[in-house]
Amino acid sequence: MLKCDFCGRHAVYNRRYAGVFLCDRCIIKSVERRFRRAMGKYKLVSPGERVAVAVSGGKDSVTCMHLLADHCERKNCELIAVTVDEGIKGYRDRSMSIVRENAKLLDIEHFAVSFRKTFGATLDQIAMLAKRKKTGLNPCTYCGVMRRSLLNQAARELGVDKLSTAHNLDDEVQAIMLNYVRADFSRLYRLGPGYPSREGFVPRIKPLREIPEKEVAVYALLKGIKVHLGVCPYAGGIHTEIRDFLNQLETNHPNSKFMILRMFDRMKPHLARSVPEFELCECKICGEPTSSGMCKSCELLREFGLGLKRKTIISGKSR
Ligand code: SF4
Ligand code: ZN
Ligand code: ZN
Repeated sequence: MLKCDFCGRHAVYNRRYAGVFLCDRCIIKSVERRFRRAMGKYKLVSPGERVAVAVSGGKDSVTCMHLLADHCERKNCELIAVTVDEGIKGYRDRSMSIVRENAKLLDIEHFAVSFRKTFGATLDQIAMLAKRKKTGLNPCTYCGVMRRSLLNQAARELGVDKLSTAHNLDDEVQAIMLNYVRADFSRLYRLGPGYPSREGFVPRIKPLREIPEKEVAVYALLKGIKVHLGVCPYAGGIHTEIRDFLNQLETNHPNSKFMILRMFDRMKPHLARSVPEFELCECKICGEPTSSGMCKSCELLREFGLGLKRKTIISGKSR
């Protein structure tokens, strides 16, 4: 029987990048400590703030909601949950009920916003239109842009001070690599544990950024947190290729993911000089903040005759 390197109990997890085995209690404690460390080190939430957490129902977002609920209670903050319903049949409809169940369990107010009600079409419909029109863009491109915009609108409407997403170490390192591959300097520069406020944008925080995906999954499992295990039918493309590449790299060279993150964090302050300052203005179609005359959502959707349908997007509470 393998023993925990910290307390000698039965080990359940091999933390290869650190060369140690951990028991159930020690891995739980370690994940919670890393979460608290990120919250403290980067001052992600201040006492008394109102925080929204974006929850899809998957292991990362539901775990993030549980950790934030505990943190907010101790710091006298208010936590609410927001779910974007992209309209992916057989996927989002199932995960939505898991979010509601968890929100109820934690006594957190939950709001749902949808692509259909806000933009006039579900992601399934947009994917079909994009295929028909041969735009060459995959559903994730539409989904990512629209979801970001919708979450920001929802957070603004709900009057929160911070919007938390559940990006873990693997997500963040994938985003760093993706922006290298695409040579997208300004998106690369915007990565980090928190993104500060700019006019019209609610500051974003990523409290799971220094926790590997596998450890979030082990934590959820050991804590008995109910999560949705489905995989989005549109998942694939370059994101998956980069994820597989990084996983292979980590298998052959443990700790690579942390090293990529550390290197990026050390470089980031030096990148500031190379990022052009830009003024924010209102999108001429929907009024959302943008650095050009038209926001990315409107740019993508106008081809299909779609766009922001209404100014108030919060549709309903789950309780
Ligand atoms: Fe959206 Fe792509 Fe994620 Fe599916 S895999 S939820 S389409 S970003
Ligand atoms: Zn132990
Ligand atoms: Zn717009």
